Amino acid sequence: MRTLLIIAGCAIAAVAFAFTAFRDPNRQDGIRWSSSAVEVTIQQDGSDDIGDGSDITAIEQAVATWAAALSSGFTLTVGAPSSARDYGNDGINRITFIESGYPGGTDSALGTTIPSVVTGDPSRLVDVDILLNGEMEPWTVDGVPTGIDIQSVTAHELGHLVGLAHAYRSESVMYTGARSGTTFRRALNDDDQRGARLLTSAGLGCTEERDCPLLVGLAGIGGSPLRLTCNGTSCVPGAVGYGLDCIDNSDCTSGACLRDPASVYSGDPGGCTESCTTGSCPGGDLCKDVGGGNLRCVPGRSCSADSDCGGGANNKCLFDFDGHFRCRHLCMLDQHCTPPARCIDLDYGAGVCHEPGAAPNGAECLDPLMCMGLACRGNAQTLLCETAPTRQDGGTVPDVPHVGDGGWRPDAIGHDASGRDLWHPGYDGGNGYDSADDVGVEPEPPGCACASRTPANVATLLLLPVLAFAGRRRLRLDRVKSPADDARRWSA
Ligand SMILES: [Zn+2]
Repeated sequence: MRTLLIIAGCAIAAVAFAFTAFRDPNRQDGIRWSSSAVEVTIQQDGSDDIGDGSDITAIEQAVATWAAALSSGFTLTVGAPSSARDYGNDGINRITFIESGYPGGTDSALGTTIPSVVTGDPSRLVDVDILLNGEMEPWTVDGVPTGIDIQSVTAHELGHLVGLAHAYRSESVMYTGARSGTTFRRALNDDDQRGARLLTSAGLGCTEERDCPLLVGLAGIGGSPLRLTCNGTSCVPGAVGYGLDCIDNSDCTSGACLRDPASVYSGDPGGCTESCTTGSCPGGDLCKDVGGGNLRCVPGRSCSADSDCGGGANNKCLFDFDGHFRCRHLCMLDQHCTPPARCIDLDYGAGVCHEPGAAPNGAECLDPLMCMGLACRGNAQTLLCETAPTRQDGGTVPDVPHVGDGGWRPDAIGHDASGRDLWHPGYDGGNGYDSADDVGVEPEPPGCACASRTPANVATLLLLPVLAFAGRRRLRLDRVKSPADDARRWSA
Protein backbone atom coordinates (compact mmCIF):
# COMPACT_ATOMS: atom_id res chain seq x y z
CA MET A 1 0.00 0.00 0.00
CA ARG A 2 2.85 2.33 0.67
CA THR A 3 4.00 2.05 -2.92
CA LEU A 4 0.52 2.61 -4.18
CA LEU A 5 0.10 5.80 -2.24
CA ILE A 6 3.32 7.23 -3.60
CA ILE A 7 2.27 6.46 -7.14
CA ALA A 8 -1.11 8.04 -6.62
CA GLY A 9 0.50 11.17 -5.24
CA CYS A 10 2.80 11.52 -8.21
CA ALA A 11 0.04 10.94 -10.70
CA ILE A 12 -2.05 13.69 -9.21
CA ALA A 13 0.75 16.19 -8.83
CA ALA A 14 0.40 17.50 -12.34
CA VAL A 15 -3.09 18.74 -11.66
CA ALA A 16 -2.64 20.07 -8.15
CA PHE A 17 -4.98 22.88 -7.23
CA ALA A 18 -3.43 23.99 -3.99
CA PHE A 19 -5.15 23.98 -0.69
CA THR A 20 -7.12 26.04 1.77
CA ALA A 21 -6.40 26.51 5.45
CA PHE A 22 -8.10 28.19 8.38
CA ARG A 23 -6.72 31.63 8.96
CA ASP A 24 -5.18 33.04 12.04
CA PRO A 25 -7.19 36.28 12.00
CA ASN A 26 -4.26 38.33 13.22
CA ARG A 27 -1.74 37.03 10.74
CA GLN A 28 -1.22 36.13 7.13
CA ASP A 29 -0.90 32.51 8.13
CA GLY A 30 -2.97 29.48 9.03
CA ILE A 31 -4.00 28.54 12.55
CA ARG A 32 -1.35 26.18 13.79
CA TRP A 33 -0.99 23.84 16.71
CA SER A 34 0.44 25.10 19.98
CA SER A 35 2.52 21.93 20.19
CA SER A 36 4.57 20.00 17.67
CA ALA A 37 3.62 16.67 19.25
CA VAL A 38 -0.09 15.87 18.93
CA GLU A 39 -1.53 12.66 20.30
CA VAL A 40 -5.03 11.42 19.52
CA THR A 41 -7.09 9.05 21.65
CA ILE A 42 -9.39 6.59 19.91
CA GLN A 43 -12.58 5.60 21.71
CA GLN A 44 -12.15 1.87 22.20
CA ASP A 45 -15.55 0.67 20.96
CA GLY A 46 -15.19 2.10 17.48
CA SER A 47 -18.34 1.74 15.39
CA ASP A 48 -21.19 -0.47 16.50
CA ASP A 49 -21.48 -1.57 12.88
CA ILE A 50 -18.20 -3.46 13.18
CA GLY A 51 -17.21 -5.97 15.82
CA ASP A 52 -13.82 -7.29 14.81
CA GLY A 53 -11.62 -4.31 15.57
CA SER A 54 -11.06 -3.41 11.94
CA ASP A 55 -12.80 -0.10 12.61
CA ILE A 56 -10.09 0.89 15.08
CA THR A 57 -7.45 -0.21 12.62
CA ALA A 58 -9.02 1.97 9.93
CA ILE A 59 -8.85 5.02 12.20
CA GLU A 60 -5.24 4.23 13.07
CA GLN A 61 -4.46 3.98 9.37
CA ALA A 62 -5.96 7.40 8.75
CA VAL A 63 -3.80 8.89 11.50
CA ALA A 64 -0.72 7.20 10.10
CA THR A 65 -1.46 8.59 6.65
CA TRP A 66 -1.43 12.19 7.86
CA ALA A 67 1.46 11.57 10.24
CA ALA A 68 3.59 10.53 7.28
CA ALA A 69 2.80 13.77 5.46
CA LEU A 70 3.68 16.23 8.22
CA SER A 71 6.95 18.08 8.33
CA SER A 72 9.83 16.50 10.16
CA GLY A 73 9.77 17.52 13.78
CA PHE A 74 5.99 17.43 14.02
CA THR A 75 4.47 14.19 15.27
CA LEU A 76 0.91 12.89 15.16
CA THR A 77 0.50 9.69 17.14
CA VAL A 78 -2.18 7.44 18.61
CA GLY A 79 -2.19 7.10 22.38
CA ALA A 80 -3.83 4.51 24.60
CA PRO A 81 -7.51 3.80 23.84
CA SER A 82 -10.21 5.18 26.08
CA SER A 83 -13.79 4.28 26.93
CA ALA A 84 -14.91 7.91 27.23
CA ARG A 85 -16.71 9.75 24.45
CA ASP A 86 -16.17 13.22 25.87
CA TYR A 87 -15.31 16.14 23.70
CA GLY A 88 -14.31 19.68 24.39
CA ASN A 89 -11.21 21.42 25.63
CA ASP A 90 -9.99 18.77 28.07
CA GLY A 91 -6.53 18.19 26.69
CA ILE A 92 -7.57 14.94 24.99
CA ASN A 93 -7.84 14.88 21.20
CA ARG A 94 -10.47 12.23 20.94
CA ILE A 95 -11.79 10.35 17.93
CA THR A 96 -15.07 8.73 18.81
CA PHE A 97 -18.20 7.38 17.23
CA ILE A 98 -21.40 8.85 18.65
CA GLU A 99 -24.05 6.18 18.20
CA SER A 100 -27.02 8.15 19.48
CA GLY A 101 -27.74 11.78 20.19
CA TYR A 102 -25.19 12.88 17.65
CA PRO A 103 -24.73 16.64 17.82
CA GLY A 104 -26.70 18.03 14.97
CA GLY A 105 -28.67 14.83 14.63
CA THR A 106 -29.05 12.64 11.61
CA ASP A 107 -28.49 15.47 9.20
CA SER A 108 -26.25 13.53 6.84
CA ALA A 109 -23.09 15.05 8.23
CA LEU A 110 -20.81 12.07 8.65
CA GLY A 111 -18.45 13.69 11.08
CA THR A 112 -17.72 16.79 13.05
CA THR A 113 -14.40 18.22 14.06
CA ILE A 114 -14.42 20.39 17.14
CA PRO A 115 -11.35 22.54 17.58
CA SER A 116 -10.46 24.45 20.70
CA VAL A 117 -8.39 27.48 19.94
CA VAL A 118 -6.46 29.84 22.13
CA THR A 119 -7.17 33.16 20.53
CA GLY A 120 -4.56 35.85 20.45
CA ASP A 121 -1.57 36.71 18.35
CA PRO A 122 -0.93 34.10 17.24
CA SER A 123 -4.04 31.96 17.64
CA ARG A 124 -3.24 28.36 18.36
CA LEU A 125 -5.00 25.02 18.34
CA VAL A 126 -4.86 23.35 21.74
CA ASP A 127 -7.42 20.54 21.51
CA VAL A 128 -9.31 19.01 18.61
CA ASP A 129 -11.94 16.30 18.84
CA ILE A 130 -13.46 14.29 16.03
CA LEU A 131 -16.98 12.91 16.25
CA LEU A 132 -18.15 10.30 13.76
CA ASN A 133 -21.89 10.03 13.22
CA GLY A 134 -22.82 6.49 14.23
CA GLU A 135 -26.47 7.26 13.57
CA MET A 136 -25.67 6.96 9.90
CA GLU A 137 -24.81 3.53 8.60
CA PRO A 138 -23.33 1.27 7.61
CA TRP A 139 -19.80 2.29 8.46
CA THR A 140 -17.47 -0.11 6.71
CA VAL A 141 -13.83 -0.91 5.98
CA ASP A 142 -14.21 -3.16 2.95
CA GLY A 143 -15.17 -0.78 0.16
CA VAL A 144 -18.67 -2.13 -0.40
CA PRO A 145 -20.80 0.16 -2.60
CA THR A 146 -23.25 1.02 0.16
CA GLY A 147 -20.73 1.58 2.92
CA ILE A 148 -19.38 4.72 4.54
CA ASP A 149 -15.65 4.21 4.59
CA ILE A 150 -14.31 4.79 8.09
CA GLN A 151 -10.77 5.45 7.02
CA SER A 152 -11.76 7.98 4.36
CA VAL A 153 -14.05 10.02 6.60
CA THR A 154 -11.57 9.96 9.47
CA ALA A 155 -8.86 11.12 7.08
CA HIS A 156 -11.01 14.11 6.10
CA GLU A 157 -11.63 15.05 9.72
CA LEU A 158 -7.96 14.71 10.54
CA GLY A 159 -7.23 17.21 7.80
CA HIS A 160 -9.28 19.70 9.77
CA LEU A 161 -7.37 18.70 12.89
CA VAL A 162 -4.18 19.65 11.09
CA GLY A 163 -5.73 23.04 10.24
CA LEU A 164 -6.91 22.52 6.69
CA ALA A 165 -10.23 23.84 5.44
CA HIS A 166 -12.11 22.53 2.42
CA ALA A 167 -10.38 22.27 -0.91
CA TYR A 168 -11.79 23.07 -4.32
CA ARG A 169 -10.39 19.95 -5.92
CA SER A 170 -12.95 17.15 -5.66
CA GLU A 171 -10.28 14.45 -5.57
CA SER A 172 -8.78 15.97 -2.45
CA VAL A 173 -9.32 14.39 0.94
CA MET A 174 -10.40 17.87 2.00
CA TYR A 175 -13.21 18.27 -0.52
CA THR A 176 -16.61 18.81 1.10
CA GLY A 177 -18.65 16.07 -0.48
CA ALA A 178 -18.41 12.35 -0.04
CA ARG A 179 -20.34 9.37 -1.21
CA SER A 180 -20.75 5.81 -0.12
CA GLY A 181 -18.66 3.12 -1.71
CA THR A 182 -15.60 5.29 -2.26
CA THR A 183 -12.22 4.68 -0.67
CA PHE A 184 -9.92 6.94 -2.67
CA ARG A 185 -9.79 9.46 0.15
CA ARG A 186 -7.80 7.07 2.27
CA ALA A 187 -4.81 8.52 0.44
CA LEU A 188 -3.81 12.17 0.50
CA ASN A 189 -3.44 13.86 -2.84
CA ASP A 190 -0.67 16.25 -3.59
CA ASP A 191 -2.63 19.26 -2.34
CA ASP A 192 -3.41 17.63 0.98
CA GLN A 193 0.23 16.76 1.47
CA ARG A 194 1.40 20.28 0.69
CA GLY A 195 -1.06 21.67 3.20
CA ALA A 196 -0.01 19.23 5.89
CA ARG A 197 3.64 20.05 5.43
CA LEU A 198 3.11 23.77 5.40
CA LEU A 199 0.94 23.95 8.51
CA THR A 200 3.38 21.87 10.52
CA SER A 201 6.56 23.63 9.45
CA ALA A 202 7.92 27.00 10.50
CA GLY A 203 6.44 29.76 8.40
CA LEU A 204 5.08 29.73 4.90
CA GLY A 205 7.93 28.68 2.68
CA CYS A 206 7.35 28.02 -1.01
CA THR A 207 8.93 27.40 -4.36
CA GLU A 208 5.76 27.77 -6.45
CA GLU A 209 2.36 29.34 -6.00
CA ARG A 210 0.54 26.11 -5.24
CA ASP A 211 2.74 25.75 -2.14
CA CYS A 212 0.81 28.71 -0.71
CA PRO A 213 -2.66 28.48 0.78
CA LEU A 214 -5.91 30.25 0.39
CA LEU A 215 -6.78 31.26 3.94
CA VAL A 216 -10.39 31.39 5.11
CA GLY A 217 -11.98 32.38 8.39
CA LEU A 218 -13.00 29.80 10.94
CA ALA A 219 -16.48 30.18 12.44
CA GLY A 220 -16.18 31.82 15.82
CA ILE A 221 -12.60 32.91 15.23
CA GLY A 222 -13.04 35.17 12.25
CA GLY A 223 -10.52 36.37 9.76
CA SER A 224 -11.29 37.51 6.26
CA PRO A 225 -10.29 35.31 3.32
CA LEU A 226 -6.78 35.90 2.05
CA ARG A 227 -5.18 34.45 -1.05
CA LEU A 228 -1.42 33.96 -0.81
CA THR A 229 1.00 33.40 -3.65
CA CYS A 230 4.69 32.59 -3.83
CA ASN A 231 7.16 35.45 -3.98
CA GLY A 232 10.49 33.74 -4.35
CA THR A 233 10.60 31.61 -1.23
CA SER A 234 7.79 32.96 0.91
CA CYS A 235 4.02 33.19 0.63
CA VAL A 236 2.68 36.71 0.34
CA PRO A 237 -0.75 38.14 -0.49
CA GLY A 238 -1.41 38.00 -4.21
CA ALA A 239 -3.36 36.45 -7.03
CA VAL A 240 -2.73 32.99 -8.44
CA GLY A 241 -3.15 31.16 -11.70
CA TYR A 242 -5.55 28.71 -13.26
CA GLY A 243 -7.26 26.14 -11.10
CA LEU A 244 -6.02 27.24 -7.71
CA ASP A 245 -8.38 27.74 -4.80
CA CYS A 246 -10.06 31.14 -4.62
CA ILE A 247 -12.89 33.01 -2.95
CA ASP A 248 -12.93 36.33 -4.79
CA ASN A 249 -12.22 37.24 -8.38
CA SER A 250 -9.28 39.27 -7.15
CA ASP A 251 -7.65 36.07 -5.92
CA CYS A 252 -7.02 35.07 -9.53
CA THR A 253 -4.58 36.51 -12.05
CA SER A 254 -7.33 36.01 -14.62
CA GLY A 255 -9.69 38.11 -12.52
CA ALA A 256 -12.25 35.30 -12.44
CA CYS A 257 -12.97 32.84 -9.63
CA LEU A 258 -15.50 30.14 -10.51
CA ARG A 259 -17.33 28.83 -7.51
CA ASP A 260 -17.38 25.06 -7.10
CA PRO A 261 -20.39 24.03 -9.22
CA ALA A 262 -21.19 21.23 -6.78
CA SER A 263 -20.30 22.83 -3.49
CA VAL A 264 -22.58 22.41 -0.54
CA TYR A 265 -21.44 25.41 1.44
CA SER A 266 -21.13 29.01 0.42
CA GLY A 267 -17.83 29.29 2.25
CA ASP A 268 -16.16 26.56 0.24
CA PRO A 269 -13.57 27.71 -2.25
CA GLY A 270 -13.92 27.93 -5.98
CA GLY A 271 -11.19 27.63 -8.57
CA CYS A 272 -9.50 30.30 -10.63
CA THR A 273 -10.86 30.03 -14.12
CA GLU A 274 -10.07 31.62 -17.47
CA SER A 275 -11.76 32.37 -20.74
CA CYS A 276 -11.90 29.56 -23.24
CA THR A 277 -13.05 28.19 -26.51
CA THR A 278 -14.19 24.62 -26.87
CA GLY A 279 -11.28 22.27 -26.27
CA SER A 280 -8.89 24.96 -25.11
CA CYS A 281 -8.99 24.41 -21.35
CA PRO A 282 -6.00 23.01 -19.46
CA GLY A 283 -6.09 19.29 -18.82
CA GLY A 284 -9.17 18.78 -20.95
CA ASP A 285 -11.32 20.69 -18.50
CA LEU A 286 -14.81 21.66 -19.56
CA CYS A 287 -15.33 24.97 -21.35
CA LYS A 288 -18.76 26.24 -20.41
CA ASP A 289 -21.06 29.19 -20.79
CA VAL A 290 -21.29 30.51 -17.24
CA GLY A 291 -23.88 33.10 -18.18
CA GLY A 292 -24.24 35.88 -20.67
CA GLY A 293 -22.36 33.94 -23.32
CA ASN A 294 -19.16 34.06 -21.27
CA LEU A 295 -17.17 30.89 -21.83
CA ARG A 296 -15.02 29.85 -18.88
CA CYS A 297 -13.05 26.73 -18.04
CA VAL A 298 -14.35 24.66 -15.14
CA PRO A 299 -11.13 23.69 -13.36
CA GLY A 300 -10.75 20.01 -12.67
CA ARG A 301 -14.09 19.02 -14.13
CA SER A 302 -15.08 17.36 -17.36
CA CYS A 303 -18.68 18.26 -16.52
CA SER A 304 -20.39 20.40 -13.94
CA ALA A 305 -24.05 19.59 -14.56
CA ASP A 306 -26.09 16.95 -16.34
CA SER A 307 -26.68 19.35 -19.20
CA ASP A 308 -22.96 19.16 -19.98
CA CYS A 309 -23.30 15.47 -20.79
CA GLY A 310 -25.07 15.48 -24.12
CA GLY A 311 -28.66 15.49 -23.00
CA GLY A 312 -30.99 12.56 -22.46
CA ALA A 313 -32.28 11.34 -19.15
CA ASN A 314 -29.59 8.68 -18.79
CA ASN A 315 -26.56 10.89 -19.25
CA LYS A 316 -25.47 12.38 -15.97
CA CYS A 317 -22.59 14.31 -14.47
CA LEU A 318 -21.65 12.13 -11.53
CA PHE A 319 -19.21 12.26 -8.65
CA ASP A 320 -17.21 9.23 -9.65
CA PHE A 321 -15.41 6.61 -7.59
CA ASP A 322 -12.19 8.60 -7.70
CA GLY A 323 -13.87 11.89 -6.85
CA HIS A 324 -13.73 13.35 -10.35
CA PHE A 325 -16.93 14.65 -11.87
CA ARG A 326 -17.54 12.82 -15.14
CA CYS A 327 -20.30 12.26 -17.63
CA ARG A 328 -21.64 8.73 -17.19
CA HIS A 329 -24.34 6.74 -18.87
CA LEU A 330 -26.76 5.12 -16.47
CA CYS A 331 -27.49 1.44 -16.90
CA MET A 332 -29.03 -1.55 -15.26
CA LEU A 333 -27.36 -4.28 -17.32
CA ASP A 334 -24.01 -4.81 -18.94
CA GLN A 335 -25.76 -4.87 -22.30
CA HIS A 336 -26.76 -1.23 -21.83
CA CYS A 337 -23.09 -0.31 -22.18
CA THR A 338 -20.82 -0.28 -25.17
CA PRO A 339 -18.15 -2.98 -24.71
CA PRO A 340 -15.69 -3.16 -23.13
CA ALA A 341 -17.53 -0.90 -20.71
CA ARG A 342 -19.58 -2.70 -18.10
CA CYS A 343 -22.45 -1.68 -15.88
CA ILE A 344 -21.21 -1.37 -12.30
CA ASP A 345 -22.95 -0.31 -9.15
CA LEU A 346 -23.06 3.14 -7.79
CA ASP A 347 -25.06 3.99 -4.75
CA TYR A 348 -27.80 5.57 -6.81
CA GLY A 349 -29.75 2.43 -7.58
CA ALA A 350 -28.90 2.32 -11.24
CA GLY A 351 -25.39 1.50 -12.29
CA VAL A 352 -23.11 3.41 -14.60
CA CYS A 353 -21.13 2.32 -17.62
CA HIS A 354 -17.44 2.16 -16.95
CA GLU A 355 -14.41 1.23 -19.01
CA PRO A 356 -12.25 -1.38 -17.28
CA GLY A 357 -9.06 -0.20 -15.62
CA ALA A 358 -5.59 -1.65 -16.05
CA ALA A 359 -5.00 -3.46 -12.76
CA PRO A 360 -5.66 -7.23 -12.70
CA ASN A 361 -7.55 -9.02 -9.99
CA GLY A 362 -5.50 -9.17 -6.81
CA ALA A 363 -3.68 -5.91 -7.45
CA GLU A 364 -3.93 -3.19 -4.84
CA CYS A 365 -6.44 -0.46 -5.59
CA LEU A 366 -8.09 2.62 -4.18
CA ASP A 367 -11.12 2.79 -6.42
CA PRO A 368 -12.89 0.42 -8.84
CA LEU A 369 -11.88 2.46 -11.86
CA MET A 370 -8.33 1.21 -11.52
CA CYS A 371 -9.36 -2.43 -11.89
CA MET A 372 -9.91 -4.64 -14.93
CA GLY A 373 -12.79 -6.19 -13.02
CA LEU A 374 -14.19 -2.80 -11.91
CA ALA A 375 -14.42 -3.82 -8.25
CA CYS A 376 -12.08 -2.82 -5.41
CA ARG A 377 -12.71 -4.56 -2.10
CA GLY A 378 -10.80 -5.45 1.03
CA ASN A 379 -10.35 -4.10 4.51
CA ALA A 380 -8.78 -1.23 6.37
CA GLN A 381 -5.29 -2.35 5.46
CA THR A 382 -5.58 -3.46 1.86
CA LEU A 383 -8.02 -3.11 -1.00
CA LEU A 384 -7.65 -5.49 -3.92
CA CYS A 385 -9.10 -5.58 -7.41
CA GLU A 386 -11.90 -8.05 -7.96
CA THR A 387 -14.35 -8.77 -10.73
CA ALA A 388 -17.62 -6.93 -10.24
CA PRO A 389 -20.74 -9.10 -10.40
CA THR A 390 -22.23 -9.31 -13.86
CA ARG A 391 -25.37 -7.27 -14.25
CA GLN A 392 -27.34 -9.43 -16.65
CA ASP A 393 -30.88 -10.70 -16.61
CA GLY A 394 -31.28 -12.03 -20.15
CA GLY A 395 -32.45 -8.81 -21.60
CA THR A 396 -36.08 -8.96 -20.53
CA VAL A 397 -35.96 -5.70 -18.67
CA PRO A 398 -36.41 -2.35 -20.34
CA ASP A 399 -33.65 0.18 -20.32
CA VAL A 400 -32.60 2.30 -17.48
CA PRO A 401 -35.00 3.31 -14.72
CA HIS A 402 -33.41 6.68 -14.74
CA VAL A 403 -35.66 8.61 -12.42
CA GLY A 404 -38.14 7.81 -9.73
CA ASP A 405 -38.46 6.12 -6.41
CA GLY A 406 -36.41 3.01 -6.20
CA GLY A 407 -34.25 4.01 -9.08
CA TRP A 408 -31.49 6.43 -9.55
CA ARG A 409 -31.09 9.34 -7.28
CA PRO A 410 -29.21 12.31 -8.63
CA ASP A 411 -26.91 14.60 -6.81
CA ALA A 412 -28.67 17.44 -5.12
CA ILE A 413 -29.86 20.05 -7.53
CA GLY A 414 -29.25 22.88 -5.14
CA HIS A 415 -29.05 23.89 -1.53
CA ASP A 416 -31.16 26.00 0.73
CA ALA A 417 -29.89 28.73 3.01
CA SER A 418 -29.13 26.20 5.73
CA GLY A 419 -27.00 24.13 3.44
CA ARG A 420 -29.55 21.36 3.12
CA ASP A 421 -29.72 19.53 -0.15
CA LEU A 422 -32.55 20.30 -2.49
CA TRP A 423 -33.99 17.37 -4.41
CA HIS A 424 -36.64 16.93 -7.01
CA PRO A 425 -40.04 16.54 -5.33
CA GLY A 426 -40.30 12.93 -6.40
CA TYR A 427 -37.47 11.95 -4.10
CA ASP A 428 -38.76 13.34 -0.89
CA GLY A 429 -40.06 11.11 1.85
CA GLY A 430 -41.23 7.57 2.10
CA ASN A 431 -38.59 6.17 -0.16
CA GLY A 432 -35.90 5.09 2.23
CA TYR A 433 -33.70 8.05 1.55
CA ASP A 434 -32.46 10.36 4.22
CA SER A 435 -35.62 12.34 3.85
CA ALA A 436 -34.86 14.60 6.79
CA ASP A 437 -32.30 16.12 4.50
CA ASP A 438 -34.56 16.34 1.51
CA VAL A 439 -36.19 19.60 0.58
CA GLY A 440 -38.07 19.07 -2.62
CA VAL A 441 -38.69 22.49 -4.01
CA GLU A 442 -37.26 22.44 -7.47
CA PRO A 443 -39.11 21.59 -10.64
CA GLU A 444 -38.45 18.23 -12.19
CA PRO A 445 -36.04 18.13 -15.08
CA PRO A 446 -37.19 17.58 -18.64
CA GLY A 447 -37.76 13.94 -19.35
CA CYS A 448 -38.40 13.00 -15.75
CA ALA A 449 -40.65 10.00 -15.42
CA CYS A 450 -41.30 10.32 -11.72
CA ALA A 451 -45.02 10.92 -11.93
CA SER A 452 -45.72 7.83 -13.96
CA ARG A 453 -43.63 5.42 -11.99
CA THR A 454 -45.79 2.94 -10.15
CA PRO A 455 -45.05 0.79 -7.13
CA ALA A 456 -44.86 -2.23 -9.43
CA ASN A 457 -42.09 -0.57 -11.38
CA VAL A 458 -40.25 0.16 -8.20
CA ALA A 459 -40.37 -3.46 -7.09
CA THR A 460 -39.02 -4.61 -10.41
CA LEU A 461 -36.18 -2.19 -10.32
CA LEU A 462 -35.11 -3.09 -6.85
CA LEU A 463 -34.88 -6.77 -7.63
CA LEU A 464 -32.59 -6.40 -10.56
CA PRO A 465 -29.15 -5.36 -9.46
CA VAL A 466 -27.26 -6.58 -6.47
CA LEU A 467 -28.97 -5.71 -3.26
CA ALA A 468 -26.78 -2.71 -2.90
CA PHE A 469 -29.54 -0.18 -2.99
CA ALA A 470 -30.01 0.42 0.68
CA GLY A 471 -27.35 3.06 0.75
CA ARG A 472 -28.25 5.16 -2.24
CA ARG A 473 -27.27 8.38 -0.71
CA ARG A 474 -25.08 11.24 -1.54
CA LEU A 475 -23.16 11.68 1.63
CA ARG A 476 -22.17 14.97 3.04
CA LEU A 477 -19.08 15.24 5.14
CA ASP A 478 -19.75 18.59 6.53
CA ARG A 479 -22.09 20.71 8.45
CA VAL A 480 -20.96 24.00 9.86
CA LYS A 481 -21.72 24.49 13.52
CA SER A 482 -21.66 27.59 15.62
CA PRO A 483 -19.00 27.94 18.27
CA ALA A 484 -19.72 27.14 21.88
CA ASP A 485 -17.60 28.79 24.57
CA ASP A 486 -14.03 28.48 23.51
CA ALA A 487 -14.69 25.36 21.49
CA ARG A 488 -14.65 26.57 17.95
CA ARG A 489 -16.53 24.14 15.83
CA TRP A 490 -16.47 23.26 12.27
CA SER A 491 -17.62 20.02 10.93
CA ALA A 492 -16.81 17.66 8.27
ZN1 LIG B 1 -14.82 19.03 6.22
